[in-house]
Amino acid sequence: MSDVPPPWLPEDIDETFDPLEHADIEPSPETPLIVTPRGGDREVGRSCYQVDTQHGRYLVDCGLSQGTSDKFPDLRGLQPQSIDAVFLTHAHVDHCGGLPVLENRNLLADNAPVVTTPPTASIASLMLEDSLKIHRRETDGSSAVQQFTSRDVAEVCDRFHTVGYGGGRIEGVAPVSDVEPAIFQLGNTAHLLGSAWVVIQTSGYRVCFSGDLGGRATHLPDMSPPPESGLLMLESTYGDTHSHPSLSGARTGLWEDIERAIQTREPVLIPTFAIGRAQTILLIIAERLHTLSADLRDRVEIVLDGMAVEGTDIYHEYVEDTNYFAESLVNRVVESGETEPFFAESFTIPETDQDRQKILTRAARDGTVPVIISPSGMLTGGNSPRYLAEFTARFGNASVFLTGYQAANTTGRTLQSQYQADQETVSATIDATPFSTDWPESSDVQWVHAENTGDSELKTRISFSADWISLVEGLSGHAAQSGLLSFARTVAPDTIGLIHGPDYAQERLGPHLAENVAGVDQVTRSRRMTPIAVGSETDVDTAVISPEEIDSTGYTELEDQIDHLYELLSKLNEEVASARNEPGLSEAEIREVIQDEMEIKE
Ligand SMILES: [Zn+2]
Repeated sequence: MSDVPPPWLPEDIDETFDPLEHADIEPSPETPLIVTPRGGDREVGRSCYQVDTQHGRYLVDCGLSQGTSDKFPDLRGLQPQSIDAVFLTHAHVDHCGGLPVLENRNLLADNAPVVTTPPTASIASLMLEDSLKIHRRETDGSSAVQQFTSRDVAEVCDRFHTVGYGGGRIEGVAPVSDVEPAIFQLGNTAHLLGSAWVVIQTSGYRVCFSGDLGGRATHLPDMSPPPESGLLMLESTYGDTHSHPSLSGARTGLWEDIERAIQTREPVLIPTFAIGRAQTILLIIAERLHTLSADLRDRVEIVLDGMAVEGTDIYHEYVEDTNYFAESLVNRVVESGETEPFFAESFTIPETDQDRQKILTRAARDGTVPVIISPSGMLTGGNSPRYLAEFTARFGNASVFLTGYQAANTTGRTLQSQYQADQETVSATIDATPFSTDWPESSDVQWVHAENTGDSELKTRISFSADWISLVEGLSGHAAQSGLLSFARTVAPDTIGLIHGPDYAQERLGPHLAENVAGVDQVTRSRRMTPIAVGSETDVDTAVISPEEIDSTGYTELEDQIDHLYELLSKLNEEVASARNEPGLSEAEIREVIQDEMEIKE
């Protein structure tokens, strides 16, 4: 671990550093629950939170940060076989990608389970296989040491202990003594198929981990309300965003752009994350494809590539279960007998590079319009960068929809920045291989030597018109500030520890919560390797913001209520509209309804 220790930890921190010992605290009748972030504190990535009780040690999530190189949670000071159970909120790699490292370092007790919902276990197994491939590629031939192997992945997947939403006694699932009075509870967060918040309770005290909060997907059931808890560890990814652009607007907008591209015969590439976003986009297409004229329908070829295929298969396995899917979707599936609602009426799944080449040849030769949905979402791996390079070599015009967050140092971010800077032509150097033996002859695609490294490795330089790019906003699977506030109000905690968010988001969200969550004593930006105690003594060294110290953020409670109401109404509107196959109300119309009801004049 070459991480520089964060400024609040001693500089000479070594491998034996034990955060509880350092803070001079241990579970006791006064402080029966202690929570220590080991990653995912002031960052989005490698979420991992240790929970200590008087009789057990647990983890909630164990993720990784994917960037220029993998980063895992800080696992210093953990004794071999000391973790009695892991509770997994959902299957995104920033929450589950570090699980095999626990196995590799022998930190899990014999029979320690990874407790999660059935869909999360299925998706996480798929994600871990994939992250092993990426991890191997990264460490292959470099000085970085491989942190886990295929055996670790297999062994940790064997530990999945699946439970539905609900709860049970921890001693019923984990190898802890039967004097352990702890209880766990999982409830739907509507962020991703199977996603959950996790509550751990002991000796009358509770801690609630929000996991990632959603509430914006029309195909998932509503979020379940969490129980009141003394400590809330709350995600803050979009803590600075008051509310997202309307989801129905984003869905309609994306479809209109796809339709326009089909009309003008521009091939479409939608780079996307394989799980979650891919299925949201597939559903948008599947539900609207029949509205095209017969002529346009003949022309379009929907292409689903890579891990997005396996991901969608898992979605279809659970599609008749109202625990995991919205009732409106389940009813439609049951009534129509069409058990694969995420798939359009016809689509292509390429298996080989030859298949991929044929799709592009058909487009150039016959004027078919491929609409390609392919990981990765930030054009850093998978087949999306390869399609993009082939597009630039083969087509004069094309559409590339960036549908999600583009992290720093990714091809997606490079292109997005140039587009936002109003450049006419955008370019990037990517790691991609052609579908055939070489790129088609074109000045827009060139082999180049890797920049700055001076080594002989060849990269591909691509450039194309900025007009190709569209940024699709509003499809986010994360709750914005108003959703986070409403979750926090339901939990009604004494203390809120902000996790899983960038600095600027936490700095905006903290004061907002301190001011608007009734009864909250302290809101802290959690610190890696720094314990927060739950119990009668909560005076632990964390960055505390008290309500008195905070200036108004300018948002009134009324505005929050309107936004919350707006989100509820939009969702209802969409469900009704999709059930009736009608376009439904526009954003402006919904806002008008609310304003009429509340008699507010702008
Ligand atoms: Zn997530």
